[in-house]
Amino acid sequence: MCGMAASPRRLLIATQNRGKVRELERMLEGLPVELVLPVDAGVALEVEETGATFEANAELKARAFAAASGLPTLADDSGLVVDALDGRPGVHSARYAEPPRSDRRNLEKLLAELRNVPDGRRTARFVCVAALAVPPTAPAFAGVEPGAVAFFRGTCEGRIIREPRGADGFGYDPVFVPDGLERTFAELPAAEKDARSHRGRAIDALRRRLFARLATGPAEA
Ligand code: IMP
Repeated sequence: MCGMAASPRRLLIATQNRGKVRELERMLEGLPVELVLPVDAGVALEVEETGATFEANAELKARAFAAASGLPTLADDSGLVVDALDGRPGVHSARYAEPPRSDRRNLEKLLAELRNVPDGRRTARFVCVAALAVPPTAPAFAGVEPGAVAFFRGTCEGRIIREPRGADGFGYDPVFVPDGLERTFAELPAAEKDARSHRGRAIDALRRRLFARLATGPAEA
């Protein structure tokens, strides 16, 4: 009416990982949202992941960055849940093996722990939880009230094979075969992994929420 275009709402991405940011920019394209990095918001934080669940850790990170920046904030936490190991490594996936920390050492520990587990009992799933936190001082964002957090969870079912295969991906990708496929995550082209991965699914749920709540109306940002 007044002829002024509404400026896009800013959303802080609580990660230092440029790759994740690029992925999010792609997935959230077309929305009136400007993605902001901690460095651009003048925020530098190390948040200890002390929670017992993916939700708890994602919330810890999202709330800490939201409080420090005053911006609605997105944070994610992910990992591998193996049935024969009672859910391990779970929320400890990044720091499973003894230091020095490396994907290779984590993966070798996993295979060693599963050495005597028969093929039929090697089921597992990747889990990703994205948490969207709105600071108490900011207006509601995409239907999330000031001081509240919304969660978006994605999972991918599969199984753990006995020898690593494939050169792409990271973490436990070379030993994880998703249901319905014979190739590991490390043997799939990135787009094919994204289409079925835990992270792809969590972010897809977030994207649908943002499209539904932000794309249509200027009233509630
Ligand atoms: P975070 O989301 O950076 O906290 O990741 C936790 C850990 O889970 C990573 O360091 C990996 O070991 C593992 N992980 C999470 N997502 C994936 C994935 O897509 N492929 C392989 N490993 C993953």
